[in-house]
Amino acid sequence: MVKPLKSALMWFRRDLRITDNAALHRALTTATQVSCAFVFDTDILDRLPRADRRVEFIHGSLLELDAELARANPCVAARLIVRQGKAVDEIAALAARLQVDAVVANHDDDPYAVARDAAVRDRLSRQQCAFHTVKDHVIFERSELLTQAGAPYSVFTPYKKAWLNKVDAFYLKAYPVERHATALAAAPGGLAVGVPPLSEIGFEPSNLSLLPIPLGSSGADAQLRDFLHRIDDYQEARDFPARKGPSYLSVHLRFGTVSIRSLAREAHRRAEAGSPGAATWLSELIWRDFYHQVLHHHPHVVDSAFKPAYDAIAWETGEAAEAAFAAWCEGRTGYPLVDAAMAQINRTGYMHNRLRMVVASFLVKDLGIDWRWGERYFAVHLNDFDLAANNGGWQWAASSGCDAQPYFRIFNPTSQSRKFDPDGAFIRRYLPQLAKLPDASLHNPGSAPPADLEAAGIELGRDYPMPIVQHEHARQRTLQRYKVVKQR
Ligand code: FAD
Repeated sequence: MVKPLKSALMWFRRDLRITDNAALHRALTTATQVSCAFVFDTDILDRLPRADRRVEFIHGSLLELDAELARANPCVAARLIVRQGKAVDEIAALAARLQVDAVVANHDDDPYAVARDAAVRDRLSRQQCAFHTVKDHVIFERSELLTQAGAPYSVFTPYKKAWLNKVDAFYLKAYPVERHATALAAAPGGLAVGVPPLSEIGFEPSNLSLLPIPLGSSGADAQLRDFLHRIDDYQEARDFPARKGPSYLSVHLRFGTVSIRSLAREAHRRAEAGSPGAATWLSELIWRDFYHQVLHHHPHVVDSAFKPAYDAIAWETGEAAEAAFAAWCEGRTGYPLVDAAMAQINRTGYMHNRLRMVVASFLVKDLGIDWRWGERYFAVHLNDFDLAANNGGWQWAASSGCDAQPYFRIFNPTSQSRKFDPDGAFIRRYLPQLAKLPDASLHNPGSAPPADLEAAGIELGRDYPMPIVQHEHARQRTLQRYKVVKQR
């Protein structure tokens, strides 16, 4: 078959794998010679702390990708070209240096990426170079699933129904990249290839290597194999943070070290075969698609409430709010489940989904603090930070989002703790200073009998904070605060 292009540049972004990579497949099947590049984009990196688990995750995953590329076409030992700078400048310069006919990449619908890609397209077109982008990151994107009236879905259940009706082998099948790997080209002489050390891109090691987070596609495969032994119990186990219930694949989905098609295919097959765990897990993958299409159709959610009436809410501000926010960030609220959850994110960059809901609800509805403050905190600290899912999660908790929980539904942090960490195993793991408290007092040390505190060697205010807010009082204030929404 004669290919339409002589040469192309595959630009990896949030798709750090070879296997089942839609853009790489497109590049290899349309161009005779394909070079591969990744840009450490300074517009993103310059805003990050110098020790950042995500940058280290990317760095480690690129090392694996580079080695995989070299193995994929051993005749020429293809390598990854890694650059650092403004993406638009670096990609345009590389395209010119390599004299490629096209740059190929996978879609990224985050508003920053949309603007960046428009600038790249513009610059490349002035160099007579095409820019092709394709869907890879979700099963259905943008307007692929619309209501009968042709509008985007704003309620999850009918969206999920439509998703399940439409999905078939075509949407789930893998792109057979390896079969076309002979088109991978060696970089021309004089062009530096391979991944520079972390220090060269201006970063220091974080604590990532101490965490059980395997990097790259091999890490994602290992994590998936481990999860598939547990998937049938997912619907039971997923709500209990002390249990190994969820897949822990979110960071791999975020950076594309695993293909969403491979996960959805496995979940769909097992769900069809009758596994309720797989069916529930597939639903979570569908939530991911759902929030991506929300962001695409309603980019105003980045700064404002999905439901505009919720922008009228008056949040707490000033010194007291800032002190309460600092206590939340640092896990000093006096509510052990909230504090243990914040210790989890601060130490590991991961937080269990149940706890994300609990701490988000606590910040917004117990402390009366704007959901955007919490969203920003998560954006800095989560390894799996994903604008669409994070914004969706926060607006769900604040009740302002697309298909969010009703505003009068306010989690009681102590009841959530008793229900989802009944024997306190999670709390004891992250707050060892409370370990000796009996279960009955562990969930709410602020109202523990003095004898329990004394026997556990705890003095409130010294070893563990007093609750910074009384839940019942806060609940009433929140109902008042949200009244403005009903009046609109
Ligand atoms: P699993 O339970 O194994 O789920 C599998 C995958 O499904 C996840 O990896 C994720 O890609 C997807 N998924 C699961 N739940 C959701 C959901 N509610 N919305 C969208 N996708 C989902 N998820 C992120 O990937 N990035 C975020 O920045 C993020 N921020 C959140 C903030 C808040 C306030 C809340 C309530 C949820 C947030 N989530 C986010 C969703 C969810 O908590 C995580 O995806 C999940 O905890 C990741 O762990 P896991 O891979 O073990 O999940």
